Amino acid sequence: MVNGVERQPERPWGPAEIREVLRARGLRYSRPRRVILGYLSEQDRHVSAETLYLALKQRGEDLSLSTVYLNLGVLADAGLVREFNGANGEALYDSNPSEHYHVICPETGEVRDVTPPMIDGQPLGSFLRSYVERQTGWQIDEPHVTLRGRAPRTRGEAESSD
Ligand SMILES: [Zn+2]
Repeated sequence: MVNGVERQPERPWGPAEIREVLRARGLRYSRPRRVILGYLSEQDRHVSAETLYLALKQRGEDLSLSTVYLNLGVLADAGLVREFNGANGEALYDSNPSEHYHVICPETGEVRDVTPPMIDGQPLGSFLRSYVERQTGWQIDEPHVTLRGRAPRTRGEAESSD
């Protein structure tokens, strides 16, 4: 975007990589984890645990809501899904592993991915993190950038893309 730099979207995690990431944490690539990641990786999704639970149930998957919660937490801790807060502060889960930001419409709850602008050859978040680390000596977590705004649809205009 900025400086005409487009990041290549990173590929979704492959099964071998997922297995490796989980094994490094002493975790198995269990069936619930396969089912959850499989669903999330079908397209860009931002779902709550409850939405995911209901969608899986409709597909005939026999996972309880607490199993879905538990495993989303495990997958988020392992960095295989990202957790962020939706329009009303609810936890949403995202399988897109590439660095990206979110715009959220507080009225409709619509979430859209945004490619980070590049600053000095780094995505904005990474740039900000190293900048703050240099200034403070702190070790900064990966920043999650979420902006609120009104989608064109909400304002009664035609959506420009999608
Ligand atoms: Zn996202």
